[in-house]
Amino acid sequence: MQKRRESIQVKVGDVLIGGGSHVVVQSMTNTDTADVDDTVKQVTELADAGSEIVRITVNNKQAAQAVPFIKEKLLRKNVDVPLVGDFHYNGHVLLTEFPDAAMALSKFRINPGNTGSRGRDKNFCTIVEQAIKYDKPVRIGVNWGSLDQQLLAEKMDKNNDLPEPKSSKEVMMDTIIDSAMRSSAMAQEVGLAEDKIIISCKMSGVQDLIDIYQRMAAVCRHPLHLGLTEAGMGMKGIVASSAALAVLLNQGIGDTIRISLTPQPGGDRAEEVRVGQQILQSLGIRNFIPQVTACPGCGRTKSTYFQELADEIQGYIREMMPIWRDIYPGVEDLHVAVMGCVVNGPGESKFADIGISLPGTFEEPKAPVYVDGEHRVTLTGDHIGKEFRKMMDDYIINRFGRQKESV
Ligand code: SF4
Repeated sequence: MQKRRESIQVKVGDVLIGGGSHVVVQSMTNTDTADVDDTVKQVTELADAGSEIVRITVNNKQAAQAVPFIKEKLLRKNVDVPLVGDFHYNGHVLLTEFPDAAMALSKFRINPGNTGSRGRDKNFCTIVEQAIKYDKPVRIGVNWGSLDQQLLAEKMDKNNDLPEPKSSKEVMMDTIIDSAMRSSAMAQEVGLAEDKIIISCKMSGVQDLIDIYQRMAAVCRHPLHLGLTEAGMGMKGIVASSAALAVLLNQGIGDTIRISLTPQPGGDRAEEVRVGQQILQSLGIRNFIPQVTACPGCGRTKSTYFQELADEIQGYIREMMPIWRDIYPGVEDLHVAVMGCVVNGPGESKFADIGISLPGTFEEPKAPVYVDGEHRVTLTGDHIGKEFRKMMDDYIINRFGRQKESV
């Protein structure tokens, strides 16, 4: 993996982005922001899942009015996650008319292509003035789907006059970069400090996203927010986002990420947080949750017991993490192995901090457990899962509880 790209550090609430700080995972609500209770509930779920920044839509007066109440309710619940306001078209009006909303937010997200059909630059500058007034950073989020059409048309015209015109896609890429850089320069002319600006250039194609961020990384020092826009539903969205972000993160590009998954109706919004964390964890960039290594299973594992136990352990870890995170610092580095047979399983178990190998088909009903590479015990009987969970709890208390005391 390449060294992380150097960037200016930006503070969003108490969260540091860029400048050598770790890659931050963020998310966005899909509730009606005007519905305070619904939004508070979802922000809490996202924060509990580990989202370090949460963006909310601020699209009308009702939403702007609700923002300070959302913040207050969250703080009363001890959820101190920075909230980012997502503004389009009327952001200049809302931030001016609702100072309490401006104060409650930790960052404003501006899409320079969506700051109004007339007076676009003036509106952009008004938002920047509010950011300066309330000492907030901004994300200049250029999005290929809402690119400044006037700027694009100018670029296309100039390109047509060239002896060897570029393809329209290349011109669009150039325009995205120019739009971001031009907006950053304009914000700084208004008086916004350089360390108050984060940039994103979201695309919906994997290769396009890689190309644009590689170019962007080379021409600016701002921290970069990565994300594939309109990634899609389920497996498609997860795979596409992972493919794009893995390449960029591996090249040291990207200071904060969001996975824009389309949830199933009624689906769990926090899935986008877990996917983002898993991408960073799989790349060895940052650990968020104990890693459970489970073998894929094969002809030796005819029963579903082994899959059920792996799933149970994974679910238990996920459920406990909001509590463990606070009382057992470093627990996210734990490595657990759940293997399907005693032929090949013990080898992997020895590499884990704690690992179990379940009996495969026709094997003796015994499950050896390895702790720190040593065979500790062999579990038998009907309560193997429960006993292994208890061993895992004890291991966490002994190892990470002590760390807390020494801290
Ligand atoms: S560990 Fe055992 S059960 Fe799992 S895939 Fe390997 S051989 Fe099959």
